[in-house]
Amino acid sequence: MSNLEQDPAESTCGAEPVLEIATELLEPRKVWLGKTTQVRRLLPHKERRMVGAWCFVDHYGPDDISGQPGMRVPPHPHTSLQTVTWLFDGEVLHRDSIGSQVVIRPGELHIMTAGHGIAHSEESTAEHPALLHGLQLWVALPDVHRSDAPRAFDSYRALPKVALGDAATATVLIGELGGVTSPAPSYSPLVGAEITVQGGGDARVPLAVRHEYAVHAVDGMVTVEGTRLERGEMLYLGRGRDTFSVQARDDARIVLLGGEPFEEQIVMWWNFIGRSHDEIVEAREQWNAADDRFGVVQGFDGDRLPAPAMPNSRLRPRGRTR
Ligand code: MN
Repeated sequence: MSNLEQDPAESTCGAEPVLEIATELLEPRKVWLGKTTQVRRLLPHKERRMVGAWCFVDHYGPDDISGQPGMRVPPHPHTSLQTVTWLFDGEVLHRDSIGSQVVIRPGELHIMTAGHGIAHSEESTAEHPALLHGLQLWVALPDVHRSDAPRAFDSYRALPKVALGDAATATVLIGELGGVTSPAPSYSPLVGAEITVQGGGDARVPLAVRHEYAVHAVDGMVTVEGTRLERGEMLYLGRGRDTFSVQARDDARIVLLGGEPFEEQIVMWWNFIGRSHDEIVEAREQWNAADDRFGVVQGFDGDRLPAPAMPNSRLRPRGRTR
């Protein structure tokens, strides 16, 4: 991370929270997902673990996977989170332990709400298109919902859109933007939106002053609040803004993530979210013992992913910044 500019913190009266406008560039780190797909991980970031309830952002592709297996992520568990899958190119087959089997395609939103525990696999379809390009996001569930039963896989093939002036359009994936609300289930105030901007055009995007936001550059070169973003970079905007500006040099696509700052401390380890070291130990042991908690993913051609060894030190709950 490089902190390009730090505007003075903006205080409001009395017991109101301090709204910190920020402009922090978050650079991705490369991580192998399974053996065949390399992703660029934006969250959790060293200095910025969450944006609203968004706690995990992987951006992959566009990769030419013609003649190759493409994505192949064997069955693995999740707890206390939602996975949000959004593709720009390609096809991914999702199977889970409560019986869903769904082909995910570009422009469709697919959400898996793990609650107490679920398992799933993700793989490119056998006759997949040449290009694979997408985002895998996680949303942390608040304490009051994180132990719910896993929810049936939610798929939305048409999502609401809102025009942002003449040059830009937002598709609202989850939450609310510009008075338009997605039908997707969310458990804390948040937003995820894809915004396309015509080359040479600009837009102002409405924000909720009390929420924090980050903008991720997916395609094209954009300038957000004066900061130029390369493809794959993310700009954390803090909170206290009622809009942000975006200019596109060529046709561009960005994804806006934001929400109410998530004040619960969480433990994130491997594919689990919990609130304590001991909870993670229990989930890990249950997964490796094929406990009923996570169920069985039917139909995947291969072995499930064993959980790795725990680190030597105890995991400690962490807040949204570090
Ligand atoms: Mn997963």
